[in-house]
Amino acid sequence: MFTTSDQTPEAAAPSSLDGTLSQELAALEQAGLRRTLRALHGRAGASVADGDRVLCDFSSNDYLGLASDPRLADAATAALRTAGTGAAAARLIAGHHELHQALEQALARFTGTEAALLFPSGYMANVGAIPALVGRGDAIYSDLLNHASLIDGCRLSRADLHVLPHADVGALERTLERQRGRYRRRLIVVEGIYSMGGDLYPLDALVAIARRHEAWIYLDDAHGMGVLGSSGRGSGDLWGVADAIDVVMGTLGKACGVAGAFVAGSRSLVDLLTNRARAFVYTTGSPPALAAAALAALEIVAQEPERRARLRANARRLRAGLAARGRPADGPEDGHIVPVVIGASEATMRVGAALEAAGFLVGAIRPPTVPEGTARLRITVSAAHDDHAIDALLAALDAAVSSHP
Ligand code: PMP
Repeated sequence: MFTTSDQTPEAAAPSSLDGTLSQELAALEQAGLRRTLRALHGRAGASVADGDRVLCDFSSNDYLGLASDPRLADAATAALRTAGTGAAAARLIAGHHELHQALEQALARFTGTEAALLFPSGYMANVGAIPALVGRGDAIYSDLLNHASLIDGCRLSRADLHVLPHADVGALERTLERQRGRYRRRLIVVEGIYSMGGDLYPLDALVAIARRHEAWIYLDDAHGMGVLGSSGRGSGDLWGVADAIDVVMGTLGKACGVAGAFVAGSRSLVDLLTNRARAFVYTTGSPPALAAAALAALEIVAQEPERRARLRANARRLRAGLAARGRPADGPEDGHIVPVVIGASEATMRVGAALEAAGFLVGAIRPPTVPEGTARLRITVSAAHDDHAIDALLAALDAAVSSHP
């Protein structure tokens, strides 16, 4: 039975699908954990249009301000005219376009790897690649704060899953040592920069440990790609260990401003994934026009380092402002993901709403996305912000936190 929006949930019989789900939704509501969608109708730089209001966006992953860059839109539009809107089939069947190939080659060059394989999203890359690499009889060593898509990929693989304390390389090494010889393959799964905490995984130590213990490294660099390292090549580059990462996953929907993701590494890795990653094999190829837009984005990432410089300056300004207010944020001093941990979900939502009333869109993040009791504002800076926007956010934050302590 379908209920319409003007029927009260209680109208449904308690054991019916609607009755049962309404109770579950009510429980989420009561715990301050119910999520809803909102429709925005425009984006220009760091400004988003919501009805007749314009909000300054500090919630997106559009770190370089490319999502509304006309050069990306032009590239996509031109490709739409020649390649059409859809890939029309899975890429192994009839959906492979030369734009996919060109983007994969460009991504391999960009990451300094032999080859790359596109996936329609980062979520699909992780749930596709991990189970293709390890399975029963193998082990995964996964960081406690890994993204949901990594967790799901690990679970789907059926490998033994060992969840390790966050960024604790000592605990990782002890576990690998204790389990020496027990498994066929061993895969360590981490993020380069943590999406909700903004902190970096110490990849230099990780690489040394993986070598000593004959384990492979799977690096999710969703938030590092395009941003970190001197040329924006990502976390491996930042730590000077890019060559030692066996598998790197990057997304195209964040700093690159488009959509989709890729996994890069050796030629054999990519050939294996092309055969075995079910989230690649059994899904329609992403629209070739998106590949055209991503190619344009990669050009800009390479040609306009000033965007990264601006991003870092913005991050430093925001972090210095927070520290001056007694709220130092985790992560490097120029880290673009800036967590302000509040604790309780309801309080976090109230502060988020107050910021929005003041004209700022800031992510209010609750469990299960972050651990219980660590609900937070996830403030992200962009190259599209200016000093004035950062200062205005800090002032709004003062007011929001003092009226909703
Ligand atoms: N990995 C991490 C660390 C992420 O933060 C995200 C997106 N939030 C993903 C993977 C999934 O990427 P996508 O949004 O392209 O599915």
